[in-house]
Amino acid sequence: MKQNERELTAFCGLYCGDCIRYKCRASDLANELLHEIDKTHFTKYAHVKRTHMEEFENLNSLISLLKVISEIKCSTPCRSGGDGCGGTCEIKKCALSKKFEGCWECNECEQCNKFEFLKPFHGNAPKNNLRKIKQYGLDTWSSHREQCYPWLTKK
Ligand code: SF4
Ligand code: SF4
Repeated sequence: MKQNERELTAFCGLYCGDCIRYKCRASDLANELLHEIDKTHFTKYAHVKRTHMEEFENLNSLISLLKVISEIKCSTPCRSGGDGCGGTCEIKKCALSKKFEGCWECNECEQCNKFEFLKPFHGNAPKNNLRKIKQYGLDTWSSHREQCYPWLTKK
C-alpha cells in the first residue's frame, strides 16, 4: 500500500519516505544474493577457492552481514502501525502513551532528551522538522523538511 504524506510522518518528525530502511532496495538485493549463495552451494566453492584467494575466508562474515542488511528493511511507517526503527522506540512509546499524533503536539518537545539516539544518524533534523510540522501542518510540512541524513547535505 502506498503511504501518504501524513502516514509517512513519524512520531519523532522524521519523514519515513527518506529513511534508508524504508522499502530498502539494499535489503532486497542482500536477500537475493543470500538465496543465490544458498542455491549454488557457494560456500562449498568458497571453501576450496580460499586456498588460492584468501578473501574467500571472509564469506561467512559477508553472509552474516547480508542477513542483517536484509532484515533492516521497513515496509510500514511507525505511525501506520509498523515497527519503525526496531519496535522499541521510546519516542513512539511516549507519544502513544500521551495519545499524541506525534511529538509536534507536545509542549515538552524542545527540552525532551529522548531524541539523543537519533543524533548520530539525523543530527537535529527530527526536532527541526517538528517545528516545521507545527508551522505548516501535517499535510504540507514535508516540502520544508530537512535532509534526513547529514552526510547528504551539500557542502
Ligand atoms: S520508530 Fe521512533 S525513531 Fe523511528 S521514525 Fe518512528 S518515532 Fe522516529
Ligand atoms: S516527551 Fe513529548 S517530545 Fe518527548 S518523546 Fe514524549 S511526546 Fe515526544
